[in-house]
Amino acid sequence: MDRDEVNRMLAWLDLRNDAVFNKIPPDRYRYYLDGALAAGEAAVTPFLGQDIRQLYAENQIDIVIKPGDGLFFTVQFRAQFEFSEQKSIRRVTLYQPSLESLQTSCARAGLDMPLDKIINIHLAHEFFHFLEYYRRQPVGTTLEQVCNVSFGPIRRYSTVAATSEIAAHRFCQRLNGLEYYPTYYDFLWLVHSGKQTQHEQNDLFALSQLELGRIA
Ligand SMILES: [Zn+2]
Repeated sequence: MDRDEVNRMLAWLDLRNDAVFNKIPPDRYRYYLDGALAAGEAAVTPFLGQDIRQLYAENQIDIVIKPGDGLFFTVQFRAQFEFSEQKSIRRVTLYQPSLESLQTSCARAGLDMPLDKIINIHLAHEFFHFLEYYRRQPVGTTLEQVCNVSFGPIRRYSTVAATSEIAAHRFCQRLNGLEYYPTYYDFLWLVHSGKQTQHEQNDLFALSQLELGRIA
């Protein structure tokens, strides 16, 4: 796999984790994958070459770095955003131990990732969500909805939320000039922290590559 193939495969893994993935008609997989990546590319264009900390300052978004582990109900967060116009809150919280753990995983894989760069990666990701919020236009709402309930005359539709994540990752990749789609680093961490064996990960990537080959 060359780097572009790896990156597309990682975005595909995000899409196939979506809660309504099994409601997407297979001939529409490509539509959501390409649409989400394109949304990230389009959003980043006006910001290329700009400093993320400067963008936070210009948009009055506070950056809080917490020493805690960001663990909420067994789900661990490295970053979270809170935006509320009524309460005039614009805040992104980062959890230092989780960021350091990611840094260690990168170092073990031979990647030089200073903590500052890891912080910038997370800030860029959350800045994309801020733009979605500020413009009142989450990526999912710009793409077709999928029918997730079909029972007699009843039809319910929902957006494919993973498209926001995919777009945010692509935005972050481009803004930071990263070679890889950012979940690449999460996958290093999964193996390093013992949450996934290298063998399991290789199998997952191989399977995902195969699936992608069918839709590409
Ligand atoms: Zn996100």
